[in-house]
Amino acid sequence: MLIGTHIIVGSVAGLALDNPLGALFLGLISHLLLDTIPHFDTVDDNIFTKRQITIVAAELIVAILLIYSLVWRHTGLTAPIILGSIGGFLPDCLDNVPVLKDYFRRTKFGALFHYWHERWHRKQKVISIAILTQSFIAALFLYLGYLVK
Ligand SMILES: [Zn+2]
Repeated sequence: MLIGTHIIVGSVAGLALDNPLGALFLGLISHLLLDTIPHFDTVDDNIFTKRQITIVAAELIVAILLIYSLVWRHTGLTAPIILGSIGGFLPDCLDNVPVLKDYFRRTKFGALFHYWHERWHRKQKVISIAILTQSFIAALFLYLGYLVK
């Protein structure tokens, strides 16, 4: 999944749980579960091209603006919300971001995590379906977050 979807779901999980460590754990679990849904998260075969960085940055900005206006603005950034969000994006941050991923994957835990992270991933080759799937999930969790706030 794209990073914005992971942050939205992790944030709402943290809001619902209202327990900082539980929220971090739930954010991590939500990341892995979301990755099993056929999706799209790169346009250039995991190479950080300018186009890829632009898409990720734009998607992240839109996601943060949406979750801020629908949820965070009302709840504030509580510890469970922040840690749920961190749990949501941390796996991709450690395992996919250039330079950081090189250090992470050299550790025993990082190598093992990368192996399983890749195995959990399901790609959707039809980009329009992939975008619709992610948009639906993001909208559903934004709605849930809006209801819970
Ligand atoms: Zn991932």
